[in-house]
Amino acid sequence: MLGIVGNIQEISKLCRCCMENGQFNIFTTVFETQMIAKLIGKCTSSEISFEDEYPKTICQQCFDKVVSCYLFLTKYQKVQKLLQNLLKMKKSSKEINLIVIQKIYI
Ligand SMILES: [Zn+2]
Repeated sequence: MLGIVGNIQEISKLCRCCMENGQFNIFTTVFETQMIAKLIGKCTSSEISFEDEYPKTICQQCFDKVVSCYLFLTKYQKVQKLLQNLLKMKKSSKEINLIVIQKIYI
């Protein structure tokens, strides 16, 4: 982390998340259709615009954390939907083979 930002010109080269050296452009696409900026936005509940003044790069460490966070959120959301469906089925008194359902959906 930088103590004092000496050269304002260099801000654009910092990682947007931790202020270390940025390595990747956050508008690069990953997972075929998702931009890194979108992943950061989902993990931090913030909006990132190409036109804002903040740095547009991210370091390797923060990138790994954002990917991990995104994968966690995605899996969590899938599991919540699965649980919701299971609870609906349980309410309608149908037999449920939980293990088989988990292998299919997760
Ligand atoms: Zn970083």
